[in-house]
Amino acid sequence: MDTGPSSTQYWIDRAAEINYTDDLGHKGDEDYYDGRNPIEDVALAPHIAWNEADRAMALKKAAESRDLQPGQWIELDWPPTGHLWTPGYVYWTEFESCVTHSDAYNERGDETEFEDCDDCRQRERIVESPAEWTFSVRGSIYEVRFDSQGCERDREIDEDSFEVCMVEQDPANILIGPPGNGFRD
Ligand SMILES: [Zn+2]
Repeated sequence: MDTGPSSTQYWIDRAAEINYTDDLGHKGDEDYYDGRNPIEDVALAPHIAWNEADRAMALKKAAESRDLQPGQWIELDWPPTGHLWTPGYVYWTEFESCVTHSDAYNERGDETEFEDCDDCRQRERIVESPAEWTFSVRGSIYEVRFDSQGCERDREIDEDSFEVCMVEQDPANILIGPPGNGFRD
């Protein structure tokens, strides 16, 4: 599977495909995500360039999960759709001054003065857990049937949702729809 570059531009292109061109922002940007709507409702799924191998793998996985009988098969609605499973968690470590700079830091409290010092412990961004997207498809299960004349009349006997894969993303790259009302689709 090719998840493509995780760059902002890639995401903006993805958004443009569904006409969100002008009003996009990232989760870390308060103008775009004020926390009022559940993140799961306003986040836009990352673009994935699915290929035939992905599709074949998904079909195999789906068939195995259903324990198909002879004469039964599955057809999948391709491509998969993504749902934000978990938004992930990011935090920043605290700045800690070195011995040399401790007095100056305690006096002025401005860590930016010491950002070039290798001995001070600079603030660091930690992705404790990535955002996770699940991609799934709907699939129909068919069975070969014959009518009284012996003609084949295949019949849909069931349908189900099948998980295709899980994709991880840096939480800061979660793309949000327009401010205020940015619901997906
Ligand atoms: Zn220092």
